[in-house]
This record gives sequence, C-alpha cells and structure tokens, in this order.
Amino acid sequence: MEISTEVTTNIQMVDLQGQYKKIKKEVDAAILKVIENASFINGPEVKLFQQDLEKYLEVKHVIPCANGTDALQIALMALDLKPGDEVIAPAFTYVATAEVVELLKLKLVYVDVDPKTFNISTKAILKAITPKTKAIIPVHLYGQCADMETIMEIARENNLFVIEDAAQAIGSTYTFTDGKQCKAGTIGDIGCTSFFPSKNLGCFGDGGAMYTNNDQLALKLRLISNHGQSKKYCFDSIGVNSRMDTIQAAVLKIKLKHLEEYNTSRNEVAAYYDKAFAKHSNLITPLRNTKSTHVFHQYTLITKGLDRNGLMQHLQKRNIPSMIYYPTPMHLQKGYAHLGYKEGDFPHAEDLCTRVVSLPIHTEMDQLQLEYITQEVLNYCKN
Ligand SMILES: *Cc1c(COP(=O)(O)O)cnc(C)c1O
Repeated sequence: MEISTEVTTNIQMVDLQGQYKKIKKEVDAAILKVIENASFINGPEVKLFQQDLEKYLEVKHVIPCANGTDALQIALMALDLKPGDEVIAPAFTYVATAEVVELLKLKLVYVDVDPKTFNISTKAILKAITPKTKAIIPVHLYGQCADMETIMEIARENNLFVIEDAAQAIGSTYTFTDGKQCKAGTIGDIGCTSFFPSKNLGCFGDGGAMYTNNDQLALKLRLISNHGQSKKYCFDSIGVNSRMDTIQAAVLKIKLKHLEEYNTSRNEVAAYYDKAFAKHSNLITPLRNTKSTHVFHQYTLITKGLDRNGLMQHLQKRNIPSMIYYPTPMHLQKGYAHLGYKEGDFPHAEDLCTRVVSLPIHTEMDQLQLEYITQEVLNYCKN
C-alpha cells in the first residue's frame, strides 16, 4: 500500500489541533463570552461545568481546582493527617502522586505494581501497612482502574483513607462483584483528576478537580482550595489558591459532551493495535481488567526480548512518535533518594520501566495512520 506524505508527517502522540477544529465554533464562542463578561475567576461556567461533571460521574460533589497536582494536595490536606503519617503510593506513576505527600511532610511509602495491569499491587499494599499508615493513593494508570474492590476492603479493615488518582482515567467505569458500577474517582473517599490539555478530557491550559460523595469532605475541599476562606476575609483553615479559570471551565463544559465519543475513538485505536500485535512474541498488548473499562489515556506495550530503543528509533526515522511512560520508577528518582529505597526494592516497576513503550493514541487517528504504525512496529520486530 502506498503511504501518502500526509500520513507519514502528521502522526502525533496526541492531536489537539484536529480535535479543536471539530468544535472550534462552539468553543470560540464560549471563550469569547467569558472574555466579554470579564468574569475570569469563579464565573458562572465553573459552577455549570461542575454540575455537568457531577451528573456525568454520578457523584455528589465535584470541586474544580487549578490542576491535578493541586487536587491531590488539597485532598491530602482535607484528611487532617499529621507529619509522619504514612501514605502508600505505587512506585510506577507520574511524579505528582508522590510529590504532594512529601510536600505535606507525610511519609511516602512506595509499593510495587502488578506487572500485568501496571496498577498498584494489592498484595504489596497489605505488606506495607503499619500502625502509622493512614491513606492509600491508587493510580488508575493509562486509563484502567486499579483493583478498587480489594483496595476498598483493605482500607475498611485497616481504617485507611483512599484517594484515587484518576487523572488518566476519566470516564472509566468499575464494576464491583455485586454488580454496582462506579466511575473512576468516585469509589474512594476522594477522587482527583487533571484536565491538562493532553488528558482524555483536557482544557486549554491547566485545570483539575476533586470528587467526593462525602458532604463534610466536600466542604473542606472547597474551603482549602480557596485559601481556607469560609466568608470574605474569614480564614477557617490553612488553604491554597487553587481555582479553575472560567475560560477553562467554559472549554471543559463543551468537551465533556464529547468525552464518551472521545473515549470510544481511543478504544477503537486500541482494538486495532491489540489485533495487529496479538500473536507477536516480542510484544505484550495491554491486559484488560474484567472489572474495569479502559479509556486508553495511553496505549502501552510491554516489549519482550526486543531492543526497545531500537524500535523507538526505527519508528522515529519514519516520523512515528513513541514515548516511555515512565523511564524511571519513582523510588529511584534523585529527588526521592532521602526515602532510602534502592534498586531491587520494586522489581516489577523497575522491569516495566525498561520494557514499556507507548504508541500514538488519540481521538483523531485514521485507518491509514494505524496501518502505517502497526506495519512499521511489526517490520522492526521481524529483524
Ligand atoms: C497528569 C497527572 C497528574 C497531574 O495533573 P496536573 O494537572 O498536570 O497537575 C497526576 N497524576 C497522574 C497519574 C497524571 O497522569
């Protein structure tokens, strides 16, 4: 098959321009309206988006904030933990999950992940619990929920809080054994998400939100995200300045209507990759957890007996981007050396860092691009 230059020059990890073009008129009008009203902070769109998201997620409270990292920090602040209290998080994740624990002088306790699902290992959580453990932060990595049923059982038995990092999994649905279904982020005490532009629901800058079904926690989260201010110039607690810009809320309100369709497109891309790589001995396709739907924030292969860098260079020469999420596990990062972890502590996380590779996946991919990418991956594997 002939490949047009269009295909080979135009592949991106994520195509935000193509996505914008389709909703440009509506989005431009909404942004203009915010500018004309000059209600840049806490304008009416923030509340409207909040309500739409509450409805979509079937959660009692959504508290918008400035970004996903703030969401995690504010969530931890709302739990009234004391310095030295232990918080368990996976070693294979983005830095935001861990950073906020350290900022608040809590004790970060890393645990290993499941080598097949990439998500936090529940066996490892059980081993890491001490009398000082107060919270667990499972991350729904790449768009698929961690084993929330087991995590919630562990939390109940040990009296722990659960903060879900759902930044990569907005729209993913988890089904419990009894048939109950919940959206990612609405299962634990607090769920946190990010609307960073490349996330499945992305705005045009930074944005984030917290979710909870607990009225008391919702009040606290709202208070903390606005300087701890209960009434004008009454500061009831230490807070932060973390509000969602009205312009971002206006964009998100429109994009939320398309989220299901965006996630379906991503699943179609993933299904195409799955099929193309299914029988290849050098490539392990992402395992589908039967309890959770997948929203494929990333499509991540595990390479086996294959020179990963060689593959990535081969693709790059043919204008196909690929990425490693993540090249180094959190416990071996320089900034976290004081925690005293060493190589070998979390073998699955360490091994995945040397073998994973993520391929382009977004809402605007076409058949030609998919044929070209899969063919080139397979061509390299043949060598
Ligand atoms: C993106 C991301 C965050 C942080 O979100 P920001 O909005 O960039 O602060 C946190 N956790 C995970 C797993 C993420 O992917």
